[in-house]
Amino acid sequence: MQVLSLVVPCYNEEETITPFLQATQAVEVAMAEQVRFEYIFVNDGSSDQTLSVLRQVAKAYANVHYLSFSRNFGKEAALLAGLEAATGDLVTVMDVDLQDPPELLQDMYVKIQEGYDVVGTRRADRKGEPKIRSFFARAFYFLINKISDTEMVDGARDFRLMTRQVVDSILSLEEVNRFSKGLFSWVGFKVTYVSYENRERVAGQTSWNFWSLFKYSMDGFINFSEAPLNLSMWAGAMSFLASILGILFVVIRKLTIGGSVTGWASLVSIILFIGGLQLLSLGIIGKYIAKIFLETKKRPVYIIKEKG
Ligand code: UDP
Ligand code: MG
Repeated sequence: MQVLSLVVPCYNEEETITPFLQATQAVEVAMAEQVRFEYIFVNDGSSDQTLSVLRQVAKAYANVHYLSFSRNFGKEAALLAGLEAATGDLVTVMDVDLQDPPELLQDMYVKIQEGYDVVGTRRADRKGEPKIRSFFARAFYFLINKISDTEMVDGARDFRLMTRQVVDSILSLEEVNRFSKGLFSWVGFKVTYVSYENRERVAGQTSWNFWSLFKYSMDGFINFSEAPLNLSMWAGAMSFLASILGILFVVIRKLTIGGSVTGWASLVSIILFIGGLQLLSLGIIGKYIAKIFLETKKRPVYIIKEKG
């Protein structure tokens, strides 16, 4: 029988693990004829009782396993650790807060049987989400799809069912700066999506605030696009051109009408403008260099303190 691994990152989720397990075990029973479930919970350095809850459920059920990090390494790291530990022929990644409805797994499994390699999920709406967050999320997807070659589907969740072949290709990407939304799409394969209505968390709180999401989206831009570099190059080229025109203007005026010392204010603003552009470009280049720096250090993406 095929094994389906559920990779579940958990950060301060003591209240959600039990309801999550109840919901997925109902699906497990419903699918018992087709697949055997294997749970891989990853405790991403939680500061609450998440680890002890995980120890308990791992003891209670033979197919529940957990990894526990030495500190909070972030969801991307937790996903990677879980995917590496998963042994299933099929693998799914799910949030533990039940925002990814487990009952969808049955439909997703059917699609895999039909021959798809990846079945992703997307929210049909963003109901229950703050308006401002939806606005910026939309803006992010619009921009990144304009400037990056890797397509990222608006509303697509990390929740997806993948075949072993797809998981192995994702794991073969050895970059340390991992932006999963991009990596999942970058590997390609035959992909389809199922939609569902947005749900709210069963319990607990989201660990993403506006600032962390903003930084996350910047990672997306830097990791999956060279457009910011091109932008600063073009801005540089444009201001260079403008300065040539300016010089021509000054020289011609000197030769014809004769020079004057007016134009103080304009001169200062031009200097500031060029200076600003240079700093901006340096900053953009610096961002990429910082990424290269991190990559070359080849530090592990996560450190496991305990397994069970
Ligand atoms: N998560 C994690 N490490 C973190 C932050 C979040 O493993 O540093 C997990 C979290 O436990 C949950 C999933 O990632 O299972 C999604 O997090 P959350 O529900 O807070 O995000 P949202 O649904 O609001 O985007
Ligand atoms: Mg959530």
